Amino acid sequence: MALKLYNTLTRKLEEFVPKKDVVGIYTCGLTVQGPPHVGHIRAAMIRDILTRWLLHLGYKVATLENFTDVDDKIIEKQKENKTDWRIIAEDNIEKYIQACDKLNIIKATVYPRASQHMEEIINLVQRLIDKGFAYEKEGDVYFKVRKFPDYGKLSKKSVDELMAGARIEPSALKEDPFDFAVWKAAKPGEPYWLSPWGKGRPGWHIECSAMSMHYLGESFDIHTGGEDLIFPHHENEIAQSIAATDKEFAHYWLHNGWVTLRGEKMAKSTGHYFLIDELLKDYSPNIVRLYLLKTQYRNQIEFSEERLDEAKSAYSRIADYLKEKEFRELPKDIKPFMLDEFTEAMNDDLNTPKALSIIFDLVTKGNEKLGKKEYENERKEIAASIKYYLTILGFTEEIEYHRELMTVFEDVRNKLRKEHKNKLLDDIAGDFLDDFMSIKDESEFFPMMINLLLRIRNRLRKEKNFEFADYIRKRLAEHRIHVYDGKTGESTYRVELK
Ligand SMILES: [Zn+2]
Repeated sequence: MALKLYNTLTRKLEEFVPKKDVVGIYTCGLTVQGPPHVGHIRAAMIRDILTRWLLHLGYKVATLENFTDVDDKIIEKQKENKTDWRIIAEDNIEKYIQACDKLNIIKATVYPRASQHMEEIINLVQRLIDKGFAYEKEGDVYFKVRKFPDYGKLSKKSVDELMAGARIEPSALKEDPFDFAVWKAAKPGEPYWLSPWGKGRPGWHIECSAMSMHYLGESFDIHTGGEDLIFPHHENEIAQSIAATDKEFAHYWLHNGWVTLRGEKMAKSTGHYFLIDELLKDYSPNIVRLYLLKTQYRNQIEFSEERLDEAKSAYSRIADYLKEKEFRELPKDIKPFMLDEFTEAMNDDLNTPKALSIIFDLVTKGNEKLGKKEYENERKEIAASIKYYLTILGFTEEIEYHRELMTVFEDVRNKLRKEHKNKLLDDIAGDFLDDFMSIKDESEFFPMMINLLLRIRNRLRKEKNFEFADYIRKRLAEHRIHVYDGKTGESTYRVELK
């Protein structure tokens, strides 16, 4: 069965057929007025899972996720905080990228900023004017909605139906109240760019058309974004782009459901949101990933602690199974169990809840065979299958990492005993035991284990046992953990991801 994706444009599940060798994906990213909340991360997670699955199927993929780094809200923040809009934007972009990295969200090929694509934006606006789809009025440029016959195709509504429910910005400059701005004249004190229509800045919708076409070509494969963007944002993107090029714009339109908080859409503008960094204080990245993937991307997720705790215990079931000692060496090149079912689930519009349920079925199957010698190999193959699927779904290797570190610790402990350093071991291991008892979550184990090894190493350095200290440094480096010694005796580490 080939990959099928639900296309909002046709309201149908369609077989995925790419236009070119490289699949082009554009995702409407953040307006970077603040740090990311859970709703933002869900949209990024969908780009992540779509990209991962396409790569798994053997496609080459180019992904774009834009940042709207200049708009009314950021300009408002500039006035409030007396900080330059560029600093506000870059600061929030950094926070967003860091959160995505923590969550192992695959990086977009390019993260274009609106402010860095003014030439493309101005050229597109000019093209629309030249073709009679846009007009200039006192430095503003407006798009003529009614001139584009297919307006409303994505929403499946007529212009009048759409506009009846919309908040229309009144303006004496518009020929028709439904027209929208593609270029706005700068007000005093606002950031501006020079254009044929005077000093100004782009409207929000035109940015996405200009940047997507610049990188992916005038026609590309997949456009994604939250369902709240269907109208007016995506409707306007389609109208502008097709009006300018007379070509199909994006072929597949994928829209993710909102994350709701007490039934309301999570949004920065209403103050109704939960920051991702807050969430990551209590839940590990793998738990957050599981929580988000437990719902198919088109459905809404109600944000609740109960659901997160459910995800946490569900994740422990998987982690508990995989941490068995017998799974240190797993068979390679096996055909994973239930591969057809897993592939079918993912090909069915990225049905991640179904794909996860296959992992849980495997855990149950493996646990049923626990302690029976004759099933030892099968249990190992089940473990290998689970890991195979977890990797496809973007879960990180924290479980495996813990085990790698345990091996280093065991070797260090044996070496300490051999060198009659039981006293040192007792001192440090005593503290370690206290820390160990207070662990609430699997994810705390990793930094704790490294700190234990660094503490042992520091004691050895103080005793001028550099040979042993170096042994620990080298062993950690084998596991991609690099130790750096500061001038005042403290040590830090950095984990180098594969
Ligand atoms: Zn957009």
